[in-house]
Amino acid sequence: MSRKVSPASVAPALLGAFPEPGHDHAHCVDVALKQAESICQERGARLTDVRRRVLELVWRNHRPVGAYEILEHLGNSRKRAQPPTVYRALEFLLAQGLIHRIERLNAYIGCTAPERDHDGQFLICRDCGATAELLDRRIDTAIHAGASAAGFTVEHPTVELEGLCAKCRSHDHHG
Ligand SMILES: [Zn+2]
Ligand SMILES: [Zn+2]
Ligand SMILES: [Zn+2]
Repeated sequence: MSRKVSPASVAPALLGAFPEPGHDHAHCVDVALKQAESICQERGARLTDVRRRVLELVWRNHRPVGAYEILEHLGNSRKRAQPPTVYRALEFLLAQGLIHRIERLNAYIGCTAPERDHDGQFLICRDCGATAELLDRRIDTAIHAGASAAGFTVEHPTVELEGLCAKCRSHDHHG
């Protein structure tokens, strides 16, 4: 008997879109934490205080966050937060699909659709750092089909695309 908490679905609205400037980000964080709680509960995974706090810090904004930055903020609230504590929490969150790792930035971003099993594609603004997640099955399928035809096993299927978001592109035009 799994008591299914159905989280308000505002985060999925962020899928494939950059967040509006000045949006209610506390709400994004709230939705992400509720989703994480319900997912972990369903799977019998333990969202401990540290894991929850690290997830919250990854969701500080819509830009990928590095482990050192998480550690720094965690240090404010808990004395003696050690790097292994943060890395272990990040590993847990990655394994549960609650966050993604952006390799090119060596940083982490909250997943906007953690209830769906996916690899994820990311649009990363090189100017402001805002990152939007696409979740296009056609891209996943094409990658795996192409790789398998080449006899290749994909281990890191995350696609990272660098460019300019609409906001920064319009600044560029005016500058
Ligand atoms: Zn937000
Ligand atoms: Zn995702
Ligand atoms: Zn931008």
